[in-house]
Amino acid sequence: MLLDEGLLIRRTIALGFRSVAEGGRPFATLVARDGGVLAESNAQTDPLLHSEAEAIGRARTRLGVWELRGCEIYTLCQPCAACLGLCRDAKADRVVFLALREECEPYYPEDEEPEEFTGWLPMLYVQEPDAVDVCRLWAADHLKPQ
Ligand SMILES: [Zn+2]
Repeated sequence: MLLDEGLLIRRTIALGFRSVAEGGRPFATLVARDGGVLAESNAQTDPLLHSEAEAIGRARTRLGVWELRGCEIYTLCQPCAACLGLCRDAKADRVVFLALREECEPYYPEDEEPEEFTGWLPMLYVQEPDAVDVCRLWAADHLKPQ
């Protein structure tokens, strides 16, 4: 089944909601090529592994190659500097993210200051309020009301 960008976005958001519903964190990434999903992750298996890193690793394993040229990476929240470095290293065509860090921050506070990503990588921010709702859903169970 071929998915257009809108459907890939819906699938990324659904993956994030599923993660939170199953007790995981509000993250989701999928690697797509030619309208098909090669790999996905909602960072459930390893608490140290971000969903971008896991999805990229799974796509590499599936294709048997290191470089993911021709692939696009869809991810729920604006990736951290380390994950952007991985996306660049993978030579993915583009990274699409659905929520800015500052949109998610009130619902998923991050401890560490994000380092700066200084490389060049084609990125597209598609504002999707549902992506922030994934973090809001997580916060409802994990953050105490102020
Ligand atoms: Zn990351």
